[in-house]
Amino acid sequence: MTVLVFLDPSREHGRIADAGQPQLMATDLGTTRGDGVFESLLVVRGTPRKLQAHLDRLGHSADAMKLEIPDQQSWRKAITTALDEFAATEQADAPEIVLKLISTRGVEGTGRPTSWVSAFLPSPTAHRQREHGIDVLLLDRGYDSTLSDRAPWLLLGAKTLSYAVNMAAIRYAAEQGADDVIFTSSDGKVLEGPTATVLVARTHDGVRELLTPRRDSGILPGTTQGALFSAAGQAGWKLGYGPLEPSDLMEADGVWLVSSIRLLAPVNSIDGTPVATSPSLTTELGGLLEKIV
Ligand code: PLP
Repeated sequence: MTVLVFLDPSREHGRIADAGQPQLMATDLGTTRGDGVFESLLVVRGTPRKLQAHLDRLGHSADAMKLEIPDQQSWRKAITTALDEFAATEQADAPEIVLKLISTRGVEGTGRPTSWVSAFLPSPTAHRQREHGIDVLLLDRGYDSTLSDRAPWLLLGAKTLSYAVNMAAIRYAAEQGADDVIFTSSDGKVLEGPTATVLVARTHDGVRELLTPRRDSGILPGTTQGALFSAAGQAGWKLGYGPLEPSDLMEADGVWLVSSIRLLAPVNSIDGTPVATSPSLTTELGGLLEKIV
């Protein structure tokens, strides 16, 4: 069951559409070129989490590719419509819903973006990986960690619809018996997962530290990592932004892939080698995440 609401300048609160029927033109540049931006966020008991951070990032991604998308008020209204509509379905009691916000460059030649919100249930994989953790492979992304500034046309820090490579990396990992991937740069730095940010906990001189790769290393700035860092900082953790190398992961007290839908997935092994896991740290960090709205 998917609820679909198109943002439509002639309908203030958006236009509800049937997700079971064709709704997009085959010439939409989102479908022909993956030319667009998106966000995925979690709704817990009816409330979208970190909505402002997701709307801000959607705007930054669109700016990076010079795409004019609807304003934040229009997104908020369409989201309310989608959640109201979802609440009227037989899945209304679901504790968690996924919201996807998508804006494409629109039908070729029109110069008008196509934008919509969809609401649906999370996949069971997200829950399973939260609970049981994941085995990951380190895969080379093929460029160095300083490329982002030199090559803005690569849109490295933007959440664009061009996720075919990310999905191919996850399929490659699955073929090798792993669940997910951590990309590394050609200069040996840890980057990110195909759909998640890398988080590392370690104790240094008796001080508990949470680390994540440098944000200027061509990775997507994660809203989950950002919110978790704020909460962890207030809870007394020391925070740091890399650079991280694979050895930092192997020597950590815990490694997680964090993202909006899956939240906190503990990494059990990297390239087949077990890494330290800490159920108590996962519970503690998960508790901080739960409080974030
Ligand atoms: N990095 C990439 C490449 C992603 O696609 C995502 C989320 O989909 C993330 C990181 C995590 O971002 P967030 O925590 O905002 O979901």
